[in-house]
Amino acid sequence: MADTRGSRAGDEAAGFEVGPTFRRFSQKDDIFCRSFWDPEIRSDRSDMFYETYRTPRMKWRDVEGFTQRDYAVRNASWHVTDIFAEMREQGDRREGFLDPYSVLRDGPGVRVHVDSPEAGAREVKHVAKTFGADLVGITGYDDRWVYTHAYSRDGESEKVQELPADLPHVIVIAQAMDLDLIGTVPSALSGTATGMGYSRDTLVLLALSQYIINLGYRAVPTMNDTALAIPLAIKAGLGEYGRHGLLITPEFGPRVRLGKIFTDFPLAHDRPRRFGVRETCEVCRRCTDACPAKAIAGGPPSDAVHNRSNIPGVTKWTTDAERCFRFWSNQNTDCSICVRVCPYNRDYGKWRNRLWQRLAGGPLRRLALWLDRRSGRGERRSPKEWWPRGQTSVEKAG
Ligand code: SF4
Ligand code: SF4
Repeated sequence: MADTRGSRAGDEAAGFEVGPTFRRFSQKDDIFCRSFWDPEIRSDRSDMFYETYRTPRMKWRDVEGFTQRDYAVRNASWHVTDIFAEMREQGDRREGFLDPYSVLRDGPGVRVHVDSPEAGAREVKHVAKTFGADLVGITGYDDRWVYTHAYSRDGESEKVQELPADLPHVIVIAQAMDLDLIGTVPSALSGTATGMGYSRDTLVLLALSQYIINLGYRAVPTMNDTALAIPLAIKAGLGEYGRHGLLITPEFGPRVRLGKIFTDFPLAHDRPRRFGVRETCEVCRRCTDACPAKAIAGGPPSDAVHNRSNIPGVTKWTTDAERCFRFWSNQNTDCSICVRVCPYNRDYGKWRNRLWQRLAGGPLRRLALWLDRRSGRGERRSPKEWWPRGQTSVEKAG
């Protein structure tokens, strides 16, 4: 078993408060798994929600942003990830969602020399970025965030967690989601940002893992399976928890998708980075007010859980996943309204947005929030405007 004491010692820097009632999480209790086995969550609406990812028919909903073309582009964006998820379904594996990726070649059996963990970290980050990673951080193995059990779709039950416990390092990858697409939330079209995030994640996770294996070391690439990604990402220095329960990064705000690789390649660990998110969330309720499902609490961080889909014993902002998922099912696509409205959701390639982040990170954060509200930044953009010249070729022909 890997030593996790070093990781736990960094809890305070990460802003974690893990209490005596803490219990590790089983993936069976994840809301997406529950939507298959739990009659409290599964419904005709949730079955139809999944069906829309397979069949982009003319009208799932008669609303702008939910046309056949919108579903077509959204579903196509998931295609790469879906291929890998479905490749081994016959063997009761949905890789990337319920099981680690396994489509990897064997290594040479000879390990290259690595000068130092610091040199190893520099090398891995360089290669990850070359393969297309937007952000890369490194932390230690911490069994608290690893699922006690994986979930078997065939058996609708828990199955053995296959991750070896002797891989001491975790490389966390973040892929940015498209700002313009997120601006059209709620819409089926906006789900394209999510699908592209995952498909790009799949590529980087597989390629980087194969690189490490080619050097003679072990690597297990995982996406939504195997472990909770956000605590690992925070420990790896990628960002902070927001009130909406998502990771907020300095580079892309909350607009990221995460993946992680467990490995024994020698790596130095990053430190958590704080840039004022917690303090901002204490005075901002934008996501709470905007959430149509009333799934985001407006009070202080707490270790209270809404239902079995929350991890017990961790003091933080926790969303009600049941309410959230029911809203997704009812509107026939995923929702990222809390991402769209979050003041940290900006293009940090622009100097004025970097300046805004500095303002929000200090004593003038209330001014920063006031400026954000006045700017209209978080307003919904029309899905029609995203398509060339505001209308599709079919509509023009008609
Ligand atoms: S995704 Fe939508 S429904 Fe879920 S918490 Fe965010 S705003 Fe609420
Ligand atoms: S919308 Fe406001 S309260 Fe919610 S996560 Fe973003 S900054 Fe925090």
